[in-house]
Amino acid sequence: MSELSLYAADEAAMLALGGLIAKACEGVGTIHLLGDLGAGKTTLSRGIIRGLGHVGAVKSPTFTLVEPYELDERRAYHFDLYRLSDPEELEFLGIRDYFADQALCLIEWPQRGAGFLPKPDLTITISPLTGGRSLCLTPSSARGDAWCALLANAG
Ligand code: ADP
Ligand code: MG
Repeated sequence: MSELSLYAADEAAMLALGGLIAKACEGVGTIHLLGDLGAGKTTLSRGIIRGLGHVGAVKSPTFTLVEPYELDERRAYHFDLYRLSDPEELEFLGIRDYFADQALCLIEWPQRGAGFLPKPDLTITISPLTGGRSLCLTPSSARGDAWCALLANAG
């Protein structure tokens, strides 16, 4: 499966897309989120985490670096590594536990953690487009391929 391009016209559409991604991934795997400040990475993450059954706030982990979520049967970890000054700091966060098999890891600014993060199943690149946002989904594992196939049919 090659790349998949999607479009979200506004914030509500972005949250809805997150819901579709949550359904496709079933809460297990690693997603890297690329895009400038304000692109919509946190908004999409919010849609995904709510789509996995979380009720309540999903705040940006800009200052905490990571926010954990206890979901029905699994966990999600939402990272924002924008403020990470050195990828080695990730070691002190005890991140290995976070990358356990039965968790979903959403990682904003994965470039800042290069060398210390698990390989993504999917990379989502978000860019502004005619008032809304374009999303380019690039799978990099069999799991990511399967998600994109599901999303291509859902879309
Ligand atoms: P990031 O985490 O990439 O810095 P945010 O998710 O915080 O970005 O979003 C920044 C702004 O973009 C928010 O005001 C949000 O409402 C808006 N936004 C998110 N998705 C869309 C969209 N698809 N179309 C238009 N605006 C959006
Ligand atoms: Mg953000």
